Amino acid sequence: MNNSAYEPVIGLEVHVQLKTKSKMFCGCSTEFTLDPNVNICPVCTGQPGVLPVANRKAIELNLKTALALNCGINRHSIFARKNYFYPDLPKNYQITQYEVPFGYDGFLEIDIERESPEAAAKAKKTIRIKRVHQEEDTGKLLHALGSRKLDYSLVDFNRSGVPLLEIVSEPDIANPDEAHAYLSALKSVLQYIEVSDCDMEKGSLRCDANVSIRKRGETELGTKTEIKNMNSFKSVRDALDYEIRRQVEVVGNGGKIVQETRLWDDKANITGSMRSKEQAHDYRYFPEPDLPPFEFDENLIDAIKKDIPELPEKLKQRLVEECQLSQYDAEVLTKEKPLARYFETALASMNPRTPNSPKLLANWINTELLGKLNSENKNVEQSPVSPENLGELVKLIETGAISGKIAKTVFADMMSTGRAPAAIIKEKGLVQISDENELKNVINDVIKENQKAADEYRAGKKQALGSLVGAVMKKTSGKANPQVVNKLLQEVLSEPAV
Ligand SMILES: [Zn+2]
Repeated sequence: MNNSAYEPVIGLEVHVQLKTKSKMFCGCSTEFTLDPNVNICPVCTGQPGVLPVANRKAIELNLKTALALNCGINRHSIFARKNYFYPDLPKNYQITQYEVPFGYDGFLEIDIERESPEAAAKAKKTIRIKRVHQEEDTGKLLHALGSRKLDYSLVDFNRSGVPLLEIVSEPDIANPDEAHAYLSALKSVLQYIEVSDCDMEKGSLRCDANVSIRKRGETELGTKTEIKNMNSFKSVRDALDYEIRRQVEVVGNGGKIVQETRLWDDKANITGSMRSKEQAHDYRYFPEPDLPPFEFDENLIDAIKKDIPELPEKLKQRLVEECQLSQYDAEVLTKEKPLARYFETALASMNPRTPNSPKLLANWINTELLGKLNSENKNVEQSPVSPENLGELVKLIETGAISGKIAKTVFADMMSTGRAPAAIIKEKGLVQISDENELKNVINDVIKENQKAADEYRAGKKQALGSLVGAVMKKTSGKANPQVVNKLLQEVLSEPAV
């Protein structure tokens, strides 16, 4: 991409389904169900004469998101009516926000491409957020093939009126990797502040992209296309890759980009034209006459601010500074809130703690635990090993009660049974032998049985020590502490032969 004469300019519009019990303007349930048209009423099916009432919880979650994304809040705000006809929109208009969104001018920091995991702190980029506004979702069309040579569509209004948040970025994103990083950082924040479950497969997080290209060094924006229908982070990256290449080719061949909406086809890996893109004036926006304006006072804003927990970026830096974790380990641990919580709970249970405890624990979580959970297709909330039990296991390694090798055996048992490590160690007799007197007896026996290796070592062949250590480990079924064995063997062998 860097060799191209053109550079892409990308802005993302993210729709987030808010975690509320009821819909945006009526009391219907937002619960996901496969039965069509059960969570509906006259308001969300657009019957004449009904009046909407705004959902307070949804607006609070919206303000919480805007504040977490460093936005200013419009103290005085209104809803707007966006007029268009579509079969899944029963009112023939959508209640949304236009001139006065709840949140404006925020930003989100993302990690951009870096040479090594350790360089992460230096590779940051700020993506500006233009607005965070509130709207309602539409219904859903189900296209079916009829039995009487008739194609038909069915409409399900369960989703109609579900609270949606729209987060619009400025066109600050320079390539598909940055788009991926932005989405991933945004999802992480939304999960930390618990405003949405952000499940892309269930449609609670949706992303549209505005893409244009321009000659490198130019500042004016080119004609953009809007890409829709991307159902995963991967498809966002693939769709952007494709669309940028397509635009460069069109312009390279002397053609012009047409402003239009294009749909990403995940199977064919292409974007196809859906319709020419409407201009804002096509929607004939006007202030929603059925809803009063909003005034947000300082007390409300302050109360919401206080409810925002430590965000992933800050927590990550704290783990690097306070726990001396590597940037990479801290990033893995803080990306998702449940994992961050798991780490913190496990660490709190390691008592007393040494400066090395967090690092050792992070290692165990990021390699052993996540490795095993991934292979079983489980997330950390489904882990059979509780954070307290993992903390205890790591503590046992740290104090030398068990070796790292035995810990792996114990861990495998914990993963399948969920039992505490102490119980497993006791039952299987796995406690590491560090007692010098006990080990000296074994060492004397081993030397007698391996006279040749002992003589070789005494004659200066240092590698001979390895086979003697191995023999001690074998005799103790792997329970001897290898460091102590090493030390004792050298001591015994440096004494004059008996
Ligand atoms: Zn309803």
